[in-house]
Amino acid sequence: MKIKVLGCSAVELPNANLTSFLVDERLLLDAGTIGTVLDDDQQRKIKHVLITHAHLDHIKDLPFLADNISINRKSQHVTVISIPPVIEALKQNLFNNVIWPDFTRIPTPDNPIIRLKNISPGKTFTIDGYNITACRVNHSVPAVAYLLEDRKGKRLLYTGDTGPNSAIWKSQFDKLNALIIEVSLPNRFGTMALETGHLTPKLLALELEKLKYMPDMVFITHCKPGYRKKIKEELQGLNNINFKILKDGTHFEL
Ligand SMILES: [Zn+2]
Ligand SMILES: [Zn+2]
Repeated sequence: MKIKVLGCSAVELPNANLTSFLVDERLLLDAGTIGTVLDDDQQRKIKHVLITHAHLDHIKDLPFLADNISINRKSQHVTVISIPPVIEALKQNLFNNVIWPDFTRIPTPDNPIIRLKNISPGKTFTIDGYNITACRVNHSVPAVAYLLEDRKGKRLLYTGDTGPNSAIWKSQFDKLNALIIEVSLPNRFGTMALETGHLTPKLLALELEKLKYMPDMVFITHCKPGYRKKIKEELQGLNNINFKILKDGTHFEL
C-alpha cells in the first residue's frame, strides 16, 4: 500500500494543504486537497473517496474534482463513501445547486459523476481489493475513522479528526502496520482539544496506551501550522512512541 500525503494541515496556507491522502493512486482518504496537487491524469485515476466527516477542511475539493471530470471526461464517475449524516450533509449543503451544481444528478440522474454511498460503522465492506471498516470516533460532528486492509494483509488505520475514544481501539485486535492519527494542538490547549474533539500530544499518549500492540509506524496529521514545532517538541518528550509528523507531498509505503 502506497500512501501519498496531498495535505495534512488543519488550516490552509501557501505551504499548508488541507487533509487528503491518496492510496495507491486511486483511493482518496478525505478530500481537502485535490486539484492544487494532482494533475488531470492523476485525478482521472481516482475511483473512490472515503470521507471521515463533513467539515470543510476534509471535503473542500470534492466540488472541483466533480467539475474537472464533467469538463474532461463524461464517462468517469467517482464514488464518495461515508456514514449517512455525512452523505446527507454533502447533499444538503454542497451538491445542492446553490453552493455548487448537483453533480449527483449531472450529466443524468441515472449516470451521475458523483455517486454517494452510505456505509455503516463496524460493517466491513470491500472496494477495489481493499477491505474497509469504518469506526465511530469522537469529534464535534458525526465522524468515523477508516481501517484499510489491502490484498497483502497490510493494515492502515486513519482516524480523521478525533478526541479521546475507546471504541476504536477496542476493535483493533490485530497489529496495525501504520496509524495516521491527528494531533491538532499542543498540550496547553488540552481543555479546548477535549471540547472540540481533537488530540494533544498528552492525549495521544493516553490513546496509544489503549492499544494492545503499538503500530509499526505512527504518523501525525492535522497539526495547526503555528503549533507544529511545539507539538513536535512535546511528542519527543513522550516515551515509546515511534512517530513521524507528516509533511505535504511526501510518500510512505506499507
Ligand atoms: Zn473536523
Ligand atoms: Zn479537520
